[in-house]
Amino acid sequence: MLLNIKDLHVSINGKEILKGLNLGVNYGEVHAIMGPNGTGKSTLAAAITGRDGYEITSGEIIYKGKNIVDLPPDVRANEGIFLSFQYPVEIPGVSITNFMRTALNSKREFLGEAPIPAGEFLKKMEEKKKLVDIQSKLTNRSVNEGFSGGEKKKNEIFQMAMLEPTFAVLDETDSGLDIDALKVVANGVNALRSEKNAFVVITHYQRLLDYIIPDFVHVMYDGKIVKSGGKGLALELEEKGYDWIKEQELNR
Ligand code: ADP
Ligand code: MG
Repeated sequence: MLLNIKDLHVSINGKEILKGLNLGVNYGEVHAIMGPNGTGKSTLAAAITGRDGYEITSGEIIYKGKNIVDLPPDVRANEGIFLSFQYPVEIPGVSITNFMRTALNSKREFLGEAPIPAGEFLKKMEEKKKLVDIQSKLTNRSVNEGFSGGEKKKNEIFQMAMLEPTFAVLDETDSGLDIDALKVVANGVNALRSEKNAFVVITHYQRLLDYIIPDFVHVMYDGKIVKSGGKGLALELEEKGYDWIKEQELNR
């Protein structure tokens, strides 16, 4: 198993948000996580990637056979964990091309590899630009500076394509994606998914799952995964909303 989360409890400022969450993800799988606002979906993403301020009070996150809860975020990233940002930062004066070269090289340095040769880098850029259909006029610009929502999304998926993560978490929750941006995300995931990686897609939109067909759908409620199923579960949620899930939990 690539990622195995066991009985995870996470607090923010002393308040418990994740209350015993279990999730197993194998290589080659795409998992969707849905659920009402405020149930801890973004907290889960933050806990996996190791963001500051999220205190893991108990439980384990086993990634490639190792418990990673004490590893800093940059080490987790270098080990192949990628998190898309709900609110991407702008980096004025740094082109996407240079940003990607730096990001790739710091990962290579971590892995004990030499910096990527210029020719190889350009080849990789061209290959991945095609894959996510991003234009040079965008990759030559400063990272996210003045980008539209759709362009930011495209850049983010491009970064993912370049970094070739083993495990990617896409948190799309309240980013208000239009249909074109949904397609960018979906096409990117579909082009990159393989037997060597896995994806967790956090989404409000059943529609996204029309384009990314998940192997499993999980519903989070009050800090836990309370229901899991196949892709049909997303349709059921679309139809019935979350109230029946809440009632089930209250009657438990
Ligand atoms: P979701 O992504 O499912 O909407 P979140 O993980 O963002 O849920 O939030 C889960 C809960 O944690 C919410 O009740 C939210 O108010 C709370 N929370 C999130 N961030 C913070 C924070 N920095 N300080 C205190 N509470 C927070
Ligand atoms: Mg969220």
